[in-house]
Amino acid sequence: SRYVAVRHHVEGFPSEEDFKVKTGRLRWRPESGEVLVRNLYLSMDPYQLNRMKRRSPSHVAVDGIVPGERITAYGAGKVVASACAEYKEGDVVAGLLGWEDYTLVPAGPRAGTSGITAYDGFFEVCKPQRGEKVFVSAASGSVGSLVGQFAKLASCYVVGCAGSNAKVDLLKNELGFDDAFNYKEEPDMKSALKRYFPDGIDIYFDNVGGKTLEAALASMNTHGRVALCGAISEYTDAGHRASPDLLEVIYKRIAIRGFVIWEFLTRFSEFTGIISDWICQGKVQPIEDVSNGLESVPSAFTALFLGLNIGKKLVKLA
Ligand code: NDP
Repeated sequence: SRYVAVRHHVEGFPSEEDFKVKTGRLRWRPESGEVLVRNLYLSMDPYQLNRMKRRSPSHVAVDGIVPGERITAYGAGKVVASACAEYKEGDVVAGLLGWEDYTLVPAGPRAGTSGITAYDGFFEVCKPQRGEKVFVSAASGSVGSLVGQFAKLASCYVVGCAGSNAKVDLLKNELGFDDAFNYKEEPDMKSALKRYFPDGIDIYFDNVGGKTLEAALASMNTHGRVALCGAISEYTDAGHRASPDLLEVIYKRIAIRGFVIWEFLTRFSEFTGIISDWICQGKVQPIEDVSNGLESVPSAFTALFLGLNIGKKLVKLA
């Protein structure tokens, strides 16, 4: 079956030429406890880039990606053969599959989605209070677009930044953000944030790290909370790491907390239930950006780092 592999380790910005669609043998008959899944949708996730580096950072607690080999990735698919009691042919499943047409996986409760990341990160880590001022970076992306909408449901004031005027329009006119700005048009992020938050930021949901994090800390209020969700600007820029002014953190008693989706997985079904209800009730609008066909994986993945996606980047296979 077909799968997408990296030709070599990837450092800095990824390009489509770093990838190749290959054909390889797959065992078609699942063994006890396994299912064979026909993948329907594949998730494009920025963290995969960190797995492609020569020295996949030790803190990326998933295996490094080996050039030429299959790449595990989140997705959804249909069971086409099963050797376990919990799943039967025709069941639709989601979890850790692969950038490939078919995946043979051990059956089990595995999950990971942007919705849960946004939910946990905002409600569990940031603990929002009514009326608080919230700043979200990469706000038109998969996680960010949900965080902003959750902030409105929590009766907060929310401002997002994104990398194009079309994205800013979406945030302000369709997703209910109180305000939004194009960070690429702001020569000085610190003064931009002072302008958008004259009374300071209570909660910063950080998807990008780097200079944006440094600037946000300068505008944080006393007892503000910062959720470190991702640092996409640092995935492609090995040279620059956020260097926050720690005196700001100390004197303003800011709580900065990194989190990873896995720590909340035991409550996965509870969270999915809540988010599904909100979507059905029209309270939350999921934004999807779908490319077609396995051969579009390289362009779909690299789009994340060029800011070409709006909302959750997916590849539809079948
Ligand atoms: P997005 O849908 O937000 O796509 C990535 C977006 O990031 C791009 O569209 C682009 O938007 C922005 N971006 C890219 N490069 C830069 C840059 N150099 N500086 C600023 N912005 C940039 O992706 P996700 O929603 O899937 O992920 C968002 C973040 O959340 C990532 O950092 C990811 O690693 C992290 N994450 C963390 C999880 C966790 O468990 N902690 C789980 C899932 C995701 P723009 O046009 O605005 O620049």
